[in-house]
Amino acid sequence: MTHVFRRVLTRELPRAAHAEGVWITDAEGNRYLDGAGGAIVSNVGHGDAALLGAMARQAARVQYVHGTMFTTEALEAYADDVATVLPMDGAMIYPVSGGSEAVETALKLARTYHLARGEEGRSVVIGRRQSYHGNTLGALDVGGKDQLKGPYLPWLGRFRHTETPYEYRCVMPEHPQACGARYAEALEALILEIGREHVAAFIAEPVGGATLAATVPPPDYWPAVAEVCRRHGVLLIADEVMTGFGRTGRWFGIEHWGVRPDILTAGKGSTSGYFPFGFAAASALVYETVKPKGFVHGFTWSHNGVGAAVAHATLRRLREGELVEAARVKGERLLAGLRAGLAESPIVGDVRGIGLMVGIELVADRATAAPFPRSEQVTERVLAAARERGLLLYSSTGHVDGRDGDLVMFGPPLVISEEELDLAIERAVEAIDAVARATRPGG
Ligand code: PMP
Repeated sequence: MTHVFRRVLTRELPRAAHAEGVWITDAEGNRYLDGAGGAIVSNVGHGDAALLGAMARQAARVQYVHGTMFTTEALEAYADDVATVLPMDGAMIYPVSGGSEAVETALKLARTYHLARGEEGRSVVIGRRQSYHGNTLGALDVGGKDQLKGPYLPWLGRFRHTETPYEYRCVMPEHPQACGARYAEALEALILEIGREHVAAFIAEPVGGATLAATVPPPDYWPAVAEVCRRHGVLLIADEVMTGFGRTGRWFGIEHWGVRPDILTAGKGSTSGYFPFGFAAASALVYETVKPKGFVHGFTWSHNGVGAAVAHATLRRLREGELVEAARVKGERLLAGLRAGLAESPIVGDVRGIGLMVGIELVADRATAAPFPRSEQVTERVLAAARERGLLLYSSTGHVDGRDGDLVMFGPPLVISEEELDLAIERAVEAIDAVARATRPGG
């Protein structure tokens, strides 16, 4: 008997008792290698003394003050420091409690920017199909994960969606020729169809995350898309909630393509999961435009000093441990190890990713890329098989058509050692092989 309305209602959950580095131990003493940092959250690993110390020191100083009444030294110092790594000109951060709130903040900020400029017609935000930006209504609406939207469709429908670059199932007819440019043309066509005077912003994940499992866009995609946005006065929002803070081997994912967004959202890795924190960052231009008339927004928990202190310690830890570069190097090892170990697997269609953000697409037929019927619960079985072997992975289903589609994802703490990485690869390969054998006798 429990009084917790749990996230998972179909099975019992172990009780987490202790966590250190990449390891989580439950109340019964079982040890799990945290291969996905929860939901790609734990960038600097569990139990880090520097982060815990920073949290305790700030909590002892000031626990809570309201964002309309005070600022804190912790928040001011963090903002100054994080602005030096954000890929934006003169970044100004608006701290919140997590990714969904960061996205809601970004959407409202984009609208407010256009109002401040007297462009009142600009209200539509364009997102992408097969994307994820959060579960609050605005973030859900602008996202493109259909199964999550289903029950709430009567409340949704304010925003529009364009195609997402997705190499393994590219929808562009001439693929792989100039796909990035084609996606940018599709975005431009949608802007023109809506009327550029009605479009406020375009939001996208630099690398496809929770819905598509580490889909890396073609090299020409981001520069072309950014150019379309600029040309039509549409703000570019980079949702870096999953890709931020070193995950992809750069400070922020968008840097791989040299693009500077107008607004950027962060969450997850910003505090490595030690404190519910995130932010929307505005470029100096967006901020200066909005400033005279103000921004009608705010949360009780926004601008939290304890969160900022933990986020600052995270930033220092990433720097001192050279963890951003480590993510790049270890990511190559992870990708190569999984590709080698799964090369013959009859149920693995694609292994992809960048840095320590790696996805595996499970398919019924490698030749045609046909997905498994959802009824076979292949993702769930792979996750369970991995769990039995002491490995935790992240997952996503239904990306192919809103129902079918099986993806598992790696996003281990960036502090993972080479031995631990190899162990994670070994356990994942064993788990997938076991499911393949049960699914395809003799396979
Ligand atoms: N944006 C992206 C890109 C995400 O991956 C997520 C979470 N998976 C969110 C937003 C929402 O973040 P949260 O769950 O912290 O609200």
